[in-house]
Amino acid sequence: MSVIVRWAPSPTGRIHLGNARPALLNWFFARRHGGKYVLRMDDTDLARSTRAFADGIEEDLAWLGIVPDLLVRQSERTALYDGARDRLIAAGRLYPCYETEDELDRKRARARLLGKPPIYDRAALALTDDDRARLEAEGRKPHWRFKLDGRPVQFEDVIKGAQTVNTASMSDPVLIRADGSYLYTLPSVVDDIDLGITHVIRGEDHVSNTGTQIEIFEALGGTVPAFGHHNLLTDAAGQGFSKRLGSQSIADFRAEGYEPLAVAIAATLTGTSLSVEPYESLDAIAEKLDFSMISHGSARFDPAELNGLNARLLHAMSYEDAAPRLSALGLEGEAMWMLLRENLTRFPDIVEWSRLVTGPIAPVVAPEDQDFLALAKALLPPEPWDDTTWGQWTDALKTATGRKGKALFMPLRMALTGRHDGPELKSLLVLLGRKACLDRLP
Ligand code: GLU
Repeated sequence: MSVIVRWAPSPTGRIHLGNARPALLNWFFARRHGGKYVLRMDDTDLARSTRAFADGIEEDLAWLGIVPDLLVRQSERTALYDGARDRLIAAGRLYPCYETEDELDRKRARARLLGKPPIYDRAALALTDDDRARLEAEGRKPHWRFKLDGRPVQFEDVIKGAQTVNTASMSDPVLIRADGSYLYTLPSVVDDIDLGITHVIRGEDHVSNTGTQIEIFEALGGTVPAFGHHNLLTDAAGQGFSKRLGSQSIADFRAEGYEPLAVAIAATLTGTSLSVEPYESLDAIAEKLDFSMISHGSARFDPAELNGLNARLLHAMSYEDAAPRLSALGLEGEAMWMLLRENLTRFPDIVEWSRLVTGPIAPVVAPEDQDFLALAKALLPPEPWDDTTWGQWTDALKTATGRKGKALFMPLRMALTGRHDGPELKSLLVLLGRKACLDRLP
């Protein structure tokens, strides 16, 4: 069987770290099995979905490194859903209901008072043709509910193991709103059947929907795919990510200069038995990550871990990989990159660090180091310079002044770079050359 997965965002906002998790877990699974990846825009909610958000999601996916084999938009597939709707009505599985929200609220309150679960009482099933005609004459438009079998629906979750969802304890779900628009449930099943989806990998907030959806698959005579529900990523405070709060969108991480691979690793390996550490590529993670490694507990995102990971990827980045990005920032030079990369947390930091080489910098000279630095200037070796120059220079200074350790190196560092931390001075010296050093020393 060849694997076909889908990731199905609703384009009602840009995607965040929590959405990137299923997007990538589906991608890893497809890559691992040589399968196909469908990007499905769940845009049946016309009031909240926009094309701009959909385009943004495509951009975010591309940035993360995901290349879908197929893109479908539910808004363009209504005819398929209408066909399924008609078949369910003919089979007696979809029935019109006329209760208003207020009436439903009252029913639920009454059930609670009687100590019963607030499940829809199926009153609409008892309506006669005359009743319906009368209600419609009053101007009521029906919404449509799926008639559940009401039984324990069992499935073997490829992440969570054996699951049972008892649809007897659920209200018949509304599949079509009173304005005729579809909720996500029916189109999702129809598309999964039509596109031959073999594995539905999504967040564990969908486990209970799975009971309903399996019943709909069966009612439509479709093949039920395998399901896998992963733990949800939460923010550092344990809260779910939300589009509405605009929290940690993928676009934000991109704008802040994070590495897509670091974001992808943090979004997926958090809350698994694999450590959040550098990988060479998404494919390398795909090879390693098995669904059995996804923890059943929570997955809490740690921003410090992402920063550390991002830094480690940069510290190991070859000049070949960095060069095009450096050139976009107006920078170049392999020696400069190799020297400065270990100071970076995010790629754009290189702009600031490169000034150590290109200048201008503001040398920092403590009054008590004036004489020492004047001597250092005088003892600066003649060119040509190489890796041994720093050693010659500081040995000479040590002999002349008796200074050693921090007292010897720190004034040189502060004068040459204007800061107390940074790259190895031995290599920086060679990159700077004698003239620039003379200019920086007081
Ligand atoms: N649009 C749904 C969501 O974002 C898709 C869920 C699913 O994968 O079936 O929650």
